[in-house]
Amino acid sequence: MPKALAYAAQSATSALAPYTFDRREPRPDDVQIDILFCGVCHSDLHQIRNDWKNSLYPMVPGHEIVGRAVKVGKDVKKFKEGDIVAVGCLVDSCGACPECKDHLEQFCNSGMVPTYNSYERDGKTLSQGGYSSVIVVKESFVLKVPANLDLAAAAPLLCAGITTYSPLRHWQAGPGKKVGIVGLGGLGHMGVKFARAFGAQVAVFTTSPSKKADALRLGAHEVIMSKDPEDMKKHAHSFDFILDTVAAPHDLNAYLALLRRDGTLTLVGAPETNHPAPEVFNLIFGRKRLAGSLIGGLKETQEMLDFCGKQNITSDIELIKIQDIAQAYERMLKSDVKYRFVIDMKSLKG
Ligand code: NAP
Ligand code: ZN
Repeated sequence: MPKALAYAAQSATSALAPYTFDRREPRPDDVQIDILFCGVCHSDLHQIRNDWKNSLYPMVPGHEIVGRAVKVGKDVKKFKEGDIVAVGCLVDSCGACPECKDHLEQFCNSGMVPTYNSYERDGKTLSQGGYSSVIVVKESFVLKVPANLDLAAAAPLLCAGITTYSPLRHWQAGPGKKVGIVGLGGLGHMGVKFARAFGAQVAVFTTSPSKKADALRLGAHEVIMSKDPEDMKKHAHSFDFILDTVAAPHDLNAYLALLRRDGTLTLVGAPETNHPAPEVFNLIFGRKRLAGSLIGGLKETQEMLDFCGKQNITSDIELIKIQDIAQAYERMLKSDVKYRFVIDMKSLKG
């Protein structure tokens, strides 16, 4: 069985520490992948700390994985040894329910299998993520990485990328639409790049005045200080779509007031506790919608990667050693990420 060197959390309060475990022997439809890079998502931190009250330990986090296929099962058709491949937030689903048939495996009716912090479909084996040297994944959950992309900077596309690409496509961000991105972190900065690439008028809402220049460089047409009520008021009734990526509870009314008729506020940020419920009249007047979105299915994730290949879009990253993960989390909690940490897996070997 492939032996994985990894970093794992043993409990909600312990720091990540070295951990060794066995991956499964590749099955006929599996790809064995040596992991080169893994992005650091705020969800990793939520789950290590048991913010969502569903954590399973030991936990090897990481769901923004880029690596090299080193072994393929005999039934694998799309990949061969040596290919550069990627794995995102899910590694299995039932394949038979209406959602899976519609290529929306993330909404599988019997529950998709997240890349980590879940039991596999056998109900016994814990899934373990990408802060590790090797992973074994079913071919249908493995993606191709366009050859022109920088591999470390492509890793965050697997979660931050698809989580913003999917709702921006679904709610048709594009020419003639005014789109807002709330929170300029890992997800938010990818949202800005995609909304701009799709041709929308893009505004960033930030609590960090120091990020203004970066927001403009990343593609925003304007930057709004979300803590400044006067700045917010200037944009009343003007947005077609707002994507909220914030990892902490906050007032949604402030954003609903900025939507125009039939506008939508979509939540992707998943804080530890709920936002206060918005006022009903803020939805009724203007026929507005409050929605949510979860990552994306495999087909759309491949489409997103191919789009990034054509448009040369990747994440702005800080490459770190796995030994520096605790400092990266500390900075993440202070909204000080420029704009995604990515772990260089070479560092696992010391
Ligand atoms: P991140 O890099 O830490 O960015 C979050 C940003 O939100 C911060 O940079 C900050 O931006 C803003 N923010 C944070 N705390 C805030 C506060 N107290 N008040 C106001 N703004 C605050 O996190 P991420 O990796 O992008 O993830 C964001 C959230 O999305 C997390 O909750 C994560 O679990 C969730 N997520 C959801 C999905 C999904 O499928 N729905 C997928 C991945 C992640 P400013 O400095 O610009 O204000
Ligand atoms: Zn994520």
